[in-house]
Amino acid sequence: MTIIYPGSFDPPTNGHLDIMRRAAGIFDQLEVVIADNPRKTYFFSAQERLTMIREMVADLSNVRVTLWQGLVVKYAEKIGVRIILRGVRALADFDYEFELSMMNRALNPKIETIFLTTDQKYFVLRSSAIKEVALFGGDFSEMVPPVVAKALRGRVQERKT
Ligand code: ADP
Repeated sequence: MTIIYPGSFDPPTNGHLDIMRRAAGIFDQLEVVIADNPRKTYFFSAQERLTMIREMVADLSNVRVTLWQGLVVKYAEKIGVRIILRGVRALADFDYEFELSMMNRALNPKIETIFLTTDQKYFVLRSSAIKEVALFGGDFSEMVPPVVAKALRGRVQERKT
């Protein structure tokens, strides 16, 4: 069974990677789908996020990483997949995730959303907070994989000059 894990992943964190590893251990095939919304501004371009995630999952042979502009359900329909995976941390995530899953179900009732709860090690990891930590010179090396830490350092340096 194939499952889709969509997200912005801006940047991908150790929390995302943990969800990817666990899902790859349960399902036959995992499709990580990077949202590329032209109306949004990202810290890292779609191509940069793609390159980082591909490197993060290089040791997982049943994981594919793709870019997608548009609704996730459309991508699921296109490749014939019926399950969307999302991760949840605290209760604060739940409202948003619940609504999103209702919206996706309204768009296509055949597609189900399932959730994996975070590992407590990654409970507080949030892409937006990591960008703040990076911009204010904090240490984020334990929060993201090495490839992401390197890219973050580079991006922060560029913004300074
Ligand atoms: P969004 O798609 O809403 O922009 P993200 O790209 O930040 O969200 O995350 C993609 C998915 O991974 C979401 O379901 C989010 O709740 C989940 N996620 C993010 N960080 C973690 C974490 N530390 N542990 C578990 N799940 C997470």
